[in-house]
Amino acid sequence: MPPNQASPIPFPNNNSRLGPDGRLILVSNRLPVVLNQEDEQWQLRFAAGGLATGLRRPHRESKGLWIGWPGVVTAGGEVSETVQELLKSKGMVGVGLDEKQHDEYYTHCSNRCLWPLFHYFPERMTFNAEYWETYRSVNRKFADAVLEQVQPNDLVFIQDFHLTLVPAMLRQAMPNLRIGFFLHIPFPSSEIYRIFARREEVLQGILGADVVAFHTLGYVRHFRSAARHLLGLETRSTTIYHQNREVKLMAQPLGIEPADWQGSDDDAEGEVQREMKALKQAVAGRRIILGVERLDYTKGVPERLKAFAALLQEDPSLVEKVMMIQIAVPSRVEVEEYRDLRDEVDRLAGKINSEFGRPGLQALHYQFRGVRPSILRALYRLADVCLVTPLRDGLNLVAKEFVASRGQDDGVLVLGENTGAAWELGEALRVNSYDDQAMLQTLKRALNMPIAERMSRMKPMRERVASANVHVWAEKCLGAIRASDRPQLPTTFGKGQRHEFFREWSYADAAMLFLDYDGTLREFTAKPNDAIPTPEIRSLLTSLAQVRGLHTYVVSGRSDQLLVDWLGDTGIGLVAEHGASLRRPGKMNFESLVDGLNLDWRDEVHQLMLEFAARVPKSKVEEKPLGLAWHFRDAEPEQSRWQARELRQHLEELLQDRQAEVMRGNQVVEVRPLGVTKGRAVGQILAESQCRNPLILAAGDDRTDESMFLDLPNTAWTLLIGSRQSAARFCLADPAACRRLLAEFHAYTLKSSPAAGR
Ligand code: UDP
Repeated sequence: MPPNQASPIPFPNNNSRLGPDGRLILVSNRLPVVLNQEDEQWQLRFAAGGLATGLRRPHRESKGLWIGWPGVVTAGGEVSETVQELLKSKGMVGVGLDEKQHDEYYTHCSNRCLWPLFHYFPERMTFNAEYWETYRSVNRKFADAVLEQVQPNDLVFIQDFHLTLVPAMLRQAMPNLRIGFFLHIPFPSSEIYRIFARREEVLQGILGADVVAFHTLGYVRHFRSAARHLLGLETRSTTIYHQNREVKLMAQPLGIEPADWQGSDDDAEGEVQREMKALKQAVAGRRIILGVERLDYTKGVPERLKAFAALLQEDPSLVEKVMMIQIAVPSRVEVEEYRDLRDEVDRLAGKINSEFGRPGLQALHYQFRGVRPSILRALYRLADVCLVTPLRDGLNLVAKEFVASRGQDDGVLVLGENTGAAWELGEALRVNSYDDQAMLQTLKRALNMPIAERMSRMKPMRERVASANVHVWAEKCLGAIRASDRPQLPTTFGKGQRHEFFREWSYADAAMLFLDYDGTLREFTAKPNDAIPTPEIRSLLTSLAQVRGLHTYVVSGRSDQLLVDWLGDTGIGLVAEHGASLRRPGKMNFESLVDGLNLDWRDEVHQLMLEFAARVPKSKVEEKPLGLAWHFRDAEPEQSRWQARELRQHLEELLQDRQAEVMRGNQVVEVRPLGVTKGRAVGQILAESQCRNPLILAAGDDRTDESMFLDLPNTAWTLLIGSRQSAARFCLADPAACRRLLAEFHAYTLKSSPAAGR
């Protein structure tokens, strides 16, 4: 398949557990249309744009809907019936905004608060609590518009920072809906993000999605660390565990439609050729340095013009050989900062031309106006150097469009290192846009680069941009959302299952019970040390230990000493510290299941925990035979929760490439050796047992029990105590139900005839 041809999007697909896929429901602040009223008649035309290009086909093929603001404010904040009908004919639904809503939600909260903050300009951020109420209510309006239309099997794909609260609003109303969210701007480092007054709300809003996608892995990392540090959530590389759900994170940079930028035989090409001819005449044989962007303070336009001025300053005669064209598309003109920027750039441009221009030779062509697509194409094809040097940019499509336009593999791309595109376009000349010396040197290097080097850098970038195109972006994002079918909850372990389980006992040679303690056999208590076994539990375990052919183990995170104190005389087997040591049924001593472990991290971790214990009154460090734990149950809650996040962060960094992992528990931060799991321990017990084909039941309630559910054979009866997504096949409501089952099972063993060999 030629690189510029989009691969087919497999949509719809019928493998979903929810049944066939429904429609694609796209949600964005703006609908991809421009509405005009002429002679009282509304006219609609499609607005070009990467996003719309990428999503048009799946939207059309799934008979989907695009929900968003049509771009016209109305007095009552409604969309007229006529406009709504017009939109409907194109598969769209309008969400109306009145002047106040538009001003407060869009201009202020989106453009003056979230935009500067997420682009690392906190000093430009303005936050207003009242306006934030409007942001929330407009997000609610969008969510309601989705809920009015959506069917359970539909896929919802929400775009960008204007609508961060919509995913959670939808999740609350429809827990099983498949929802994706894409952030088109950077997600800043959590150190910057934490400045934001509504930081938790926005994180929780976005985390309503099943899939949260960004342009780069850097943004994924920042988002994950914000979720961990600000919400205290558990995370694993590309997964965040939130409200008993798994939220998947992915990096999938937006692409372009390569065919739009390569030469073709259509009418448009004729126009491009005419523009190129005119442009060549205008530049009079000089080489072209090109800049194209919306006039936004994130784009580094003044810095770029200053670099060009410095170039001419060094050698004013260069004006005969080089000229710069800077296209600045007007943007957010209603915002004061943007007006100030325009004045600054106007002044700089005037200064450059008056200082370095000569009669008939303009040094800089600066225009505060967009250009027609044919002119843009001509500029991209003719420019010798494209300067894409934003101070910060989520991605930057101009860089990709320039590269895609270079059919001869000539031309030099200078790319600011703080753009998302720099991640993909490694062959560009990278520059720190804040460093004026580096900007000047890089510009000189670009102008003097030999043709062979220009080509060897451009070719791989052009090929990459063509293959990682906007259709691939859409396919990857939608594929991930589609794959996020809500896994079903474990089935309730009811009468039928009980009957089947007992029946299997009658035929089995032997049986193994692996039982977690806290939350499974015993209800939680406010203080962990109060959770001593009740007489009922002790008698139950003692009875189970006496059944011939039945091997019962408590598999716990507790220390071996505590398990001996509490359950040592029941006769059952004991697995302590999440699988670190084992006392076999009827034996007196524990044996290690983890000999030869590397524990070289212990001293450092211990030291760090002691420092936290000294800082947080009533918190304490527990030294377990292998692991270490910092308990803060008795400490002042607010301070200790915050300190716990700090400690976790330090530990995770400290242990990055060490043989240990940080566990989060209830009011405890624990570090234990890597690879020591309950699953590994029960696997070892099974492997060493003499039983040929035992009946197995494993019960547990928390995340550490998942390793047992996963590592045991498929035939095992795995039982979650509680209700959530789990690898367990079945579930029971609470420890009391678990004890009832075990008591009934014990009663059954007394009357069932022993199986062969028992
Ligand atoms: N663009 C345009 N009109 C112009 C100049 C540029 O529509 O006169 C387009 C350009 O082709 C690109 C987009 O504006 O697709 C700018 O996207 P980018 O990601 O570079 O920056 P953003 O404006 O989204 O921050």
